[in-house]
Amino acid sequence: MMQEELNGIKIKVTPPGPEAKKIIELNDKYLARSTQSLPVVGKLGKGVYVEDVDGNVYLDFASGISVTNLGHLDPYVTQKVEEQLHKLWHFPGTDFYTEMQVLAAKSLIEVTPGKFNKKVFFTNSGTESVEAAIKIAKSYTHRERFIGFIGAFHGRTQGSLSFTASKPIHHKGFFPSMPGVEHVPFPNPYRNPFNIDGYEEPDELVNRVIDYIETYLLKTYVPPEDVAGILAEPIQGEGGYIVPPMNFFKELRKLADKYHIPLLIDEVQSGFGRTGKFFASEHFGVEPDVITLAKSIASGIPMGAAVMKEEMNFSENGLHSNTFGGNLIASAACVATIDEMKKLNAVENAAKQGAYMKKRLVELQNKYNEIGDVRGLGLMLAIDFVKDRRTKEPNSKLRNDVINNAFKNGLILLSTGSSAIRIIPPLIITQEQVDEGIEVLDKAIKMSK
Ligand code: PMP
Repeated sequence: MMQEELNGIKIKVTPPGPEAKKIIELNDKYLARSTQSLPVVGKLGKGVYVEDVDGNVYLDFASGISVTNLGHLDPYVTQKVEEQLHKLWHFPGTDFYTEMQVLAAKSLIEVTPGKFNKKVFFTNSGTESVEAAIKIAKSYTHRERFIGFIGAFHGRTQGSLSFTASKPIHHKGFFPSMPGVEHVPFPNPYRNPFNIDGYEEPDELVNRVIDYIETYLLKTYVPPEDVAGILAEPIQGEGGYIVPPMNFFKELRKLADKYHIPLLIDEVQSGFGRTGKFFASEHFGVEPDVITLAKSIASGIPMGAAVMKEEMNFSENGLHSNTFGGNLIASAACVATIDEMKKLNAVENAAKQGAYMKKRLVELQNKYNEIGDVRGLGLMLAIDFVKDRRTKEPNSKLRNDVINNAFKNGLILLSTGSSAIRIIPPLIITQEQVDEGIEVLDKAIKMSK
């Protein structure tokens, strides 16, 4: 599909279609239980829209969980993937060499924060990137313990799961995962983890968290010389789109440096322009020692990476490796994604349309008492539904009803945390499309109250 053909598309929905029902039944018959939240059966991507098997057209405010940041079927990325499809698909970087992998690594090094020399380790998903970061930190420091944050999500394999702390179901029956991870409170400005009633200055909240780590952990029972790394998301994703106070990561960095502990930053969800900067770390002025990537890195072709400071590189060949990391189709998509983001000024558009979207969401908050909070940066936004604005008690039922009613009216949304909806459209969205989505959201809230 050409870029011009993407113009003029609008939401089109009819009652549940027969084709979708059939495929959902077959899905339930053949696929293992997963986490499906909406009965939408995608067939054709069209920029910020998706057409289903019955010809309904949905506006996609979920971007495949922050993956299709350039929208579906970006013409340039599609062309570059197609070119690679006719050259070479797989030639494992574990044992051999290809130019495309080098180009992908170079592109990532150029756009990730930090002016220092870096190395890239390719994976196939977010959780694998976190697994790689864990091994990088352990092998560099020769230490075994870690610090993670309550509310975090870093994946579901045993190593990354040991850091994930956003929902009990993630852990149910899987304990113990990797030992040695200590969880500390994340500075959530809306729902203060220390249960302090009312408003607390952001600086005080940050000090409280930093002091907690230093006083109750490092000086009490976790010797800092045993800690291989502190792992954090710049903005907690699955935990509810929690944006910490702007000075948090500078203070965390100071603490980490004081004890010579590497800082590992997980940008799997927040990276690639989502927040209106190429990486969310840039908002907070922090340069990670290791940065984990996946999701939008290759516009939807499975790929991940851990980008590390050069000195943290594995000391020997064979310490870590995989078959598919840096697969050539994925590498071609990664290079094309970064080029296309620059050409389309996607990051700038995310900042611009993000500001407009946030303004529109605040209008909804002013209209509906049920919206307790509007938060986020760029196009990584969320609205949080509460039973009472004063107590901030989460209203997950209303949140779920809004998602379902929005879907019935042609808008795809995903939940996050206990009571929030994430607003994460493709970064190429126009102001008209923002308005189109807000109109449906407004209607869905009205229907759900
Ligand atoms: N880290 C973060 C911050 C994530 O949001 C996710 C996925 N939601 C992951 C890691 C895991 O990624 P994947 O599902 O590709 O394993």
